[in-house]
Amino acid sequence: MKPAPFAYAKAKSVEHAIELLARPDGEARLLAGGQSLIATLNMRLSAPKLLIDLNGVSGLAGIRVDNGTVEIGALTRHAEAERSADIARHAPLIALAMPHIGHAAIRNRGTLGGSIAFADPAAELPACLLALGGELQIAGPSGKRSVKADDFFKDLFETALGPQDVLTAIRVPAATVETRMGFAEFARRHGDYAMVGLAASAKGNGEKLSDVRLAYFGVGNTPLRARKAEAALAGGDIDAAVKALATDLDPPDDVQATGATKEHLAGVLLRRVAKQLKLIRVAP
Ligand SMILES: Cc1cc2nc3c(=O)[nH]c(=O)nc-3n(C[C@H](O)[C@H](O)[C@H](O)COP(=O)(O)OP(=O)(O)OC[C@H]3O[C@@H](n4cnc5c(N)ncnc54)[C@H](O)[C@@H]3O)c2cc1C
Repeated sequence: MKPAPFAYAKAKSVEHAIELLARPDGEARLLAGGQSLIATLNMRLSAPKLLIDLNGVSGLAGIRVDNGTVEIGALTRHAEAERSADIARHAPLIALAMPHIGHAAIRNRGTLGGSIAFADPAAELPACLLALGGELQIAGPSGKRSVKADDFFKDLFETALGPQDVLTAIRVPAATVETRMGFAEFARRHGDYAMVGLAASAKGNGEKLSDVRLAYFGVGNTPLRARKAEAALAGGDIDAAVKALATDLDPPDDVQATGATKEHLAGVLLRRVAKQLKLIRVAP
């Protein structure tokens, strides 16, 4: 299928994009890498009247490490993050997740901001952001604001972004010597969206873990923290952590698997990730 007709505008700045978004009919969409948006247009799942291309806006892409924080511009391509020495060293959970996102061609165009804004519940990056306790930098008609990842993902494909907001950057705390992380997903084929996935971070002191954050994806309408399992894992009891998933998660059946299968897989992934949390350390 071909998309419904639409007008096209190239934003010159973030402010210009915000202005262009202010249509009374609310029928404008931002275009970043186009890897999700163009597919939805082609399938006529959405038919905006205007596409606002962010690709010419300077200052929206790039990775900066400053004062214990890693800031990733919204227009940074997945491929750039995948190859970045700064991401590997200072945000290693994102480096672990990157190769699981689609295929190389998709990662060459797709952007981190697009993935977070689109908020597919089976996507890797929203869960990483949640596991890392990151935050989102947003510019809108009433100025700039920052929203914690814990408050950003509201419902299915629904986030704290308003109709005139532009996501400008993602911030995560830079890893320290105490940082541990783990990542695992189950997909039918490499590059497919995950049936179930788990991104995790913690602080480690020898075998002891604290500040455990387990963010599941593919198990609900948004990425989800498994808070009872987090507490059990911090207490050193992996069996109790797996058991706690029965109360933390309630995955619905979908085209890929039944909820019961997903819950079982969530437990399998938790055992794998728990081992990684003990083993994968960041070089001092
Ligand atoms: C075959 C295929 C397989 C894929 N597999 C995976 C996968 O396994 N895992 C995964 O996570 N993703 C996967 N993707 C999606 C891919 O990661 C996309 O790049 C990503 O979801 C969207 O990023 P984008 O830059 O292409 O955004 P676009 O498609 O341009 O935009 C997506 C949405 O976000 C909005 N948006 C974009 N940028 C901003 C911004 N800065 N501020 C506010 N709103 C914005 C747009 O208006 C649009 O609604 C796959 C895509 C394809 C085509």
